[in-house]
Amino acid sequence: MKQVKAYGTQAVNAPLEALTIPRRELRPNDIQFDILYCGICHSDLHTIRGDFGEPLFPLVPGHEILGRVTTLGADVRGFEVGELVGVGCIVGSCGQCDACEHGLEQFCDEGVTFSFNGRDKISGGQTFGGFSKSYVCEDKYVLHMPAFEDLPMAAPLLCAGITVYSPLRHWQAGPGKHVGILGIGGLGHLAVRIAKAMGAEVTVFTTSPSKVEDAHRLGADHAVLSSDREAMKGMRGRLDLILDTVSAGHDVNGYLGLLRHDGSVVVVGLPAEPLQVAAYSIVRGRRSLSGSNIGGIAETQEMLNFCYEHGIVAEGEVLPISRVNEALDRLERGDVRYRFVLSMEEL
Ligand code: NAP
Ligand code: ZN
Repeated sequence: MKQVKAYGTQAVNAPLEALTIPRRELRPNDIQFDILYCGICHSDLHTIRGDFGEPLFPLVPGHEILGRVTTLGADVRGFEVGELVGVGCIVGSCGQCDACEHGLEQFCDEGVTFSFNGRDKISGGQTFGGFSKSYVCEDKYVLHMPAFEDLPMAAPLLCAGITVYSPLRHWQAGPGKHVGILGIGGLGHLAVRIAKAMGAEVTVFTTSPSKVEDAHRLGADHAVLSSDREAMKGMRGRLDLILDTVSAGHDVNGYLGLLRHDGSVVVVGLPAEPLQVAAYSIVRGRRSLSGSNIGGIAETQEMLNFCYEHGIVAEGEVLPISRVNEALDRLERGDVRYRFVLSMEEL
């Protein structure tokens, strides 16, 4: 085991502090890389706050991990030392179940191994995320990072990007489709850019007046302040698909009513509280409430290539890892436009 510098926490809701974590010795199919940048996703915050249950301690968050290869295991092919690579949420799956065979590792029957706060089936220990100096991962879960000009802001594609890309593809966002994006945070702002690049008409729904103004700059065709009843009424029955990225409890019934017949509200946000759905919201118009969770490895590579071709990266602030607690507090207050990325340079 190699000891590696990281930032993590020893208790629910406690601030993150500098600590040392083990990384497993390289096996023949493993890749080791130095982490350059790691995005901060709201799921990191939910985990730190205990919203998903008691985490494994010490908890080192971070699952939008971008770095440069330092060592290759003896059997690794197709990667080079010095290459830019990424790791998202998935670092293990059975590879044999129906889901894995269909490139849907995120739904693996045996349970996917997450890049942080997971059980590492190989070492027997736990997984530690990207708020750290280096990472070790089996090659089949490592992504090739295209040469993005704004490299730090490409890190959020590894979770936020794929989480919105996958359902937009699955529900066929494209020309002739009107897509709503609910909640303009890390996921939402990328969803606007990706849905536009796919050719859809895009309407943003936000609780933040300043984001209504910013929506057009992000590329949206229309923007609605969700507290504006008249504007909401004007959208009734007009959307084919609404991607719901909201991180806190909210009423989905009003949004189901904005769908055309056969449309779907697709939930990707993970509020701690259950969502309440009235039967009439879905029986009328044969509407559906669905969900989606990140995306498979092949699709993540496809998304990275798509974003590179279309010049899409996140927008936000890069902070040194030592300021991680400040970033988490600001993310909790909604005080970021639109994603924090941590730099590991000082580790
Ligand atoms: P984020 O940057 O904090 O954005 C969340 C947005 O939700 C906020 O910007 C805000 O948008 C809106 N919002 C927050 N509180 C709200 C409230 N009380 N009522 C209505 N709207 C509210 O978070 P994120 O990183 O994009 O993540 C969003 C959610 O997706 C989180 O729950 C995260 O855990 C989850 N997630 C899921 C997956 C998956 O695979 N399913 C992957 C990654 C993340 P406005 O200001 O525009 O209203
Ligand atoms: Zn995430």
